[in-house]
Amino acid sequence: MTSVAELIRRTAEAEAEAEASAGVAVARLPLPGHSRPIVLQSTGASSCDSGLGDDPWAIDRDPGYGPGASAADQIPGAAPRQGPLPERYTRASDEQLDRWILDAKSTLGDRVRILGHFYQRDEIVKYADFVGDSFMLAQAAKQHPEAETFVFCGVHFMAETADILSGAEQAVVLPNLAAGCSMADMATIDQVEQCWRELTEALAVGDGGVVSVGLQPVIPVTYMNSSAAIKAFCGRNGGIVCTSSNARTVLEWAFERGQRVVFFPDQHLGRNTAKEMGIGEDQMPLWRPHLPLGGNTVEQLRDARVILWNGFCSVHKRFTVEQIQRARAEHPRVRVIVHPECPAAVVEAADGAGSTEYIRKEVEAAEPGQVLAIGTEINLVNRLQQQRPDLTIFCLDPVVCPCSTMYRIHPAYLAWTLESLVAGSVPNRITVDGSVAAESRVALERMLAAKP
Ligand code: SF4
Repeated sequence: MTSVAELIRRTAEAEAEAEASAGVAVARLPLPGHSRPIVLQSTGASSCDSGLGDDPWAIDRDPGYGPGASAADQIPGAAPRQGPLPERYTRASDEQLDRWILDAKSTLGDRVRILGHFYQRDEIVKYADFVGDSFMLAQAAKQHPEAETFVFCGVHFMAETADILSGAEQAVVLPNLAAGCSMADMATIDQVEQCWRELTEALAVGDGGVVSVGLQPVIPVTYMNSSAAIKAFCGRNGGIVCTSSNARTVLEWAFERGQRVVFFPDQHLGRNTAKEMGIGEDQMPLWRPHLPLGGNTVEQLRDARVILWNGFCSVHKRFTVEQIQRARAEHPRVRVIVHPECPAAVVEAADGAGSTEYIRKEVEAAEPGQVLAIGTEINLVNRLQQQRPDLTIFCLDPVVCPCSTMYRIHPAYLAWTLESLVAGSVPNRITVDGSVAAESRVALERMLAAKP
C-alpha cells in the first residue's frame, strides 16, 4: 500500500523532473490559488454571493451552508463538518489537481466509480463515470457490484441512499462532509417523530370515516431529498418515498391506503403534485415543526388531504412569476419550464414543470432555434446550453446562484479522496445503520413497486 506521504513525495519528484526536462523554472509552494467563481451567463449576470469566488475550505471555516444559501436556512447542530484539507490540495493549481485525479482514477480502475449529480460543477462532472439525479446515481451504485467504492459527488442524503442500495461490502464516500442539503436538513427525525405523535393523537378522536373504510388515518410520504432516518420512519409506518418524477404515482398509492398524506420535507413538490391531482389549497395545511400541531387546529388536520412539511429548496424557491413575465416580454416565443420544487405560482405561470429528467427531455426534443427559459439549478442549465448550442437556453433567474451545498465538492476534495483511496484508506465513508437501511429499503421498494 502506498502512503499519502509517499504519494506526495513521488508526485513532487515527478513534477520537478517534468518541469526540469521541459526547461521550466521549478517553482515550489506557494502555488497559485484556484478560486472558481461559477461561469456567468453571457448576459453578464452577476452571482448571488461574492463568496462563490472563495474555495470551499475558506467557506468551511464558518458554520452554515455557504454562499448562495437562503438566510432562512439553519444548519442543524449535528450536521457533519469537514476537517481541514491538507495543504497539498488547497495550494495545488488546477492542472496539478487534474493530473492527480486522473492518475488516481487510472490506478484505482473499476474498483472505484465516481458518481456525479446533475447539479455538480463541470470541473467535477468531467471525472464522473455516471451522471444523474440522486435516485439514478443510487441505482447506478446498485447495478455495479464489481466496484469496491463509490465516490458520490453530490450531497449527504444522496450518499446515504447509495449506501442503502449498494452491497454491504461496498463503501460510499462523500468527498466533503459539509455537503449537506438545506432542504433535507429542514426535517429532522426528532421533529418528524413529534409530528407523528401529535397527528396520531389529533386524528384518533372522532375520525370514524377512516375506520369504516379501513384506511390508515395518515400515510407518511417522503421526498428522496431527506435523511435515511426519515426514509426509515416512512418504511416502518406504512409509508413510501417519492422522487420528483413519480410524486403523483406515489400520492395515488398513498391515497389507496390512507385518508391523508403527510409529505416531507418539500412543501412545494407536495403542493404542486396535490394541486395537479385536484386537491384544493384549503386541504393542504402547512406543518411548522416548531409549533404545537404544526400551527394548525385539529379541525384543519382532520379536513386535510395533504399535510405539507414546511421545507423548501433554497435554489428553487428563488424563481418568481416576475422572472417568467420578464422572460416572456424579452423573448415572445420562449417556452418556460421549471422544476416542481419551485413555488406553486411559478409552476402555474410556466409552460411546463417536471423533474430534471423531464427538463432534459424537453431540451432534447426542442426544435433548433427554440428559446427555453429554465427554472432549475444553474450548473444544469449551463450544461444543457452547451449540449444544445442550436437553442437559446437561459436560467430564469438572472442572478447566478448554484446549490451552495453541492458547491462544496471541489476538485481538491476529489483529489484528496481518490489519493487516500489509492493509499488504502477510505475517507468520509457514509454508512447507514443496518436497521435504518432495512426500513428505508422497505419505503424505497414500495416506491419501485408503485411505479416499476
Ligand atoms: S438543489 Fe436544493 S434540494 Fe437539491 S441538494 Fe441543493 S439545496 Fe438540496
